[in-house]
Amino acid sequence: MIAEVYIDIPAKPVNRPFDYRIPDDLAELVRPGVRVTVPFGRTRRLGFVTALKEKSEFKQLKGLDSVEDHVPVLTPELIELGGWLANQTLCSTVTAFQAMLPAAMKADYKKLIVIDQIERLLEEDPELAAFLQSVKQPIWSEIIKAHPEWAKRMQRAIKHGLISVQQLVKNQAKAKKAAAVTVEVPRSLLEDELNQLGKRSYRQKEVLEFLLKQPDLQHFHETIQKLVKHGLSREAIMKLAEKGLLKHGYIEQFRDPYNRPVDRTKPLSLTEEQAHALEPILTTMQNEEHKVFLCHGVTGSGKTEIYLQSIQRVIEQEKQAIVLVPEISLTPQMVSRFKGRFGDHVAVMHSGLSRGEKYDEWRKIREEKVQVVVGARSAVFAPFKKLGLIIIDEEHESSYKQEDMPRYHARDVAIHRAKKHHCPVVLGSATPALESFARAQKNVYTLLSLKERVNHRPLPSVHIIDLREELREGNRSVFSKELLEKIKDRLAKQEQSVLFLNRRGYSTFMMCRSCGAVVKCPHCDISLTYHRAQQLLKCHYCGYEQAVPAACPNCSSDAMRFFGTGTQKVEAELNRLIPEARVIRMDVDTTRKKGSHEKLLRRFGKEEADILLGTQMIAKGLDFPKVTLVGVLAADSLLHLPDFRASEKTFQLLTQVSGRAGRHALPGEVVIQSYAPDHYAVTDAAHHDYGAFYQQEMLLRKRAGYPPFYYLVLISLSHPEPAKAAESAERIASILRRKLSHTSQIYGPVVPSVAKIKDRYRYQCMVKYKREPELMPVLHQIMQHFQDSGKAQLQLTVDLNPVTLM
Ligand code: ADP
Ligand code: ZN
Ligand code: ZN
Repeated sequence: MIAEVYIDIPAKPVNRPFDYRIPDDLAELVRPGVRVTVPFGRTRRLGFVTALKEKSEFKQLKGLDSVEDHVPVLTPELIELGGWLANQTLCSTVTAFQAMLPAAMKADYKKLIVIDQIERLLEEDPELAAFLQSVKQPIWSEIIKAHPEWAKRMQRAIKHGLISVQQLVKNQAKAKKAAAVTVEVPRSLLEDELNQLGKRSYRQKEVLEFLLKQPDLQHFHETIQKLVKHGLSREAIMKLAEKGLLKHGYIEQFRDPYNRPVDRTKPLSLTEEQAHALEPILTTMQNEEHKVFLCHGVTGSGKTEIYLQSIQRVIEQEKQAIVLVPEISLTPQMVSRFKGRFGDHVAVMHSGLSRGEKYDEWRKIREEKVQVVVGARSAVFAPFKKLGLIIIDEEHESSYKQEDMPRYHARDVAIHRAKKHHCPVVLGSATPALESFARAQKNVYTLLSLKERVNHRPLPSVHIIDLREELREGNRSVFSKELLEKIKDRLAKQEQSVLFLNRRGYSTFMMCRSCGAVVKCPHCDISLTYHRAQQLLKCHYCGYEQAVPAACPNCSSDAMRFFGTGTQKVEAELNRLIPEARVIRMDVDTTRKKGSHEKLLRRFGKEEADILLGTQMIAKGLDFPKVTLVGVLAADSLLHLPDFRASEKTFQLLTQVSGRAGRHALPGEVVIQSYAPDHYAVTDAAHHDYGAFYQQEMLLRKRAGYPPFYYLVLISLSHPEPAKAAESAERIASILRRKLSHTSQIYGPVVPSVAKIKDRYRYQCMVKYKREPELMPVLHQIMQHFQDSGKAQLQLTVDLNPVTLM
């Protein structure tokens, strides 16, 4: 038999399957979807088997080395999906496969030192020979790290042909194993032993008595740790094993990142609106149809309960469900809602888990130990075999688009998979992406509307405050008088406030007040960020850092100042203005440690603080009954980004943040501070009026020719030499102009707002199109041409439907 194998090298020229002969002893194990190690050129690489066949058109095939998986890691559906994804996003097929698997399954390539001529080595360098022979598995990098003194001598030995370096492919994925015991002898022998043991061996007697109480002794298999927990002695267990009555073994275990009790919940009886929304979803599932629903419901309208009850049906149908949630709203609160309803049927996948934990959650899915996965973007690839439903919560979130290869949008992948499985996709949001709402308007998606909060709780009242006015009145604080008054009022009533600042950490840039120069990175053309802890200016693109300059590098004035407000500064000001308030600050710095995010929220939930001050990460998913005031300190910080979605993002963020207030018995209030209080993104958010915002924004998008009226493709390239970069960009633009139809518009090449990254000069071309049958073939051609022709210095990326244009 022959296996078709995609090799783990993400370069275009190897983006096709290679044929390998399957040695007889591996014939049983090699199936489509398993990973194998194969000889490739002069190295060994990991590869994915995608198909088996009888014959190859090539003669003299090399044989496979080994098989890495007992169970295929890719299902036939995922193999197909990988091909589709590679084609749609213009990446190589292995890159697509890797994106579907947990990182732990990436191959770890190590260099193993092999002695080729032991006799000569013993003669020329006996010490080295002895040393290498004493190391169990001499891996180059490990030896160099632990014993750098051997480096020179090993290099000499390599040169003389005495030793050589071989590629070794290591599988990083390891299941956690725990020591366990089984009973190897008949019951009667245990009984005999029990009777023979003297009084002093009472610990062993306890173990035997425990075992004899087991209903199914033959199949008894338990970890030693568990037995010890039952009060048995580890030593006694070992003694019995020595005597041959028990046998050592291992049990594969799942690491459990959510190892804590959750209160089980029951389905709530639905409101009329909820029931209306749920019904068509259930019908579609019943009929095994594919449909995309857009569930547009104001914050607090009970969308999650609709998700839960549709998943309930999936479980009853003995199928499986994927729930996607944006990374930052994958809070413990959110997870407990699913675990609370479905208990151990739920796997959770997000970036806060360790590699091993992620791998274990993934295995639970593959081994069908769970029926639901709640996870961030990549959970859309969960290897379920009978999908009954895919839910994407907060579907407008830009984090559903992956920003590097493969540049996929989880929504597109979800729809592709759901079509194959004949099941519905439910997109949920209080502020749907314009693209999605437009599709619902055209009946491509089915719109489900929830216009009211559960129990008719009112949406919070919103006040907009004009910061320019405050400044005119001499208030230079980040808090307007009104906001400060309201915070104090909540403090007096023992209610809680949430303050939102749309800026991460205390990042600020440095500007000269005399000449206006900003301190920039010499490699990246982007302003450096001040890090207070180390007193350094750092580049967020390349990591360049420098000391804070005493004088302006441009005009030598000493009027250098930091600009921008960070959470730390705001916290300091709060402490000054309202010293009695207890503040919890949540930003990248206070939540870096694993579990700290959760800890801070729990403290706030237990009312150990009056004010929660934070960045983006507190905009979503939080649900605390005592929160009656939400303050947005600077609503404009997003409004002025060089991005055609700036208004949409502002509207979404303001709506989300406002949704945190008054979700329970106490009514909520929101204060939005802004330098642009009349902007429709701000006023429409204040009026909770998605419809008005949609109308206005669609007009502007139509006029400017942006999505959803046009599709976009962004082609970016970079090269260390500015002239070469410019020349390639010109050539790409001219190919596009020549080959695409007249209905498409080609912009550029232009220098993007960040002109240089890591000493590479950047150019971009953009295509706007409505219908362009030639688009994909032309893009593939361009990729092929510019990547294959040995122009290694040129880096080229193609981003279809980009979410950022920077
Ligand atoms: P959304 O996801 O739309 O913002 P949630 O699902 O978080 O809204 O619901 C808001 C609150 O209303 C939650 O506390 C939830 O438990 C509660 N809730 C939802 N549906 C019902 C219902 N049918 N009856 C009573 N309470 C409900
Ligand atoms: Zn200056
Ligand atoms: Zn830089």
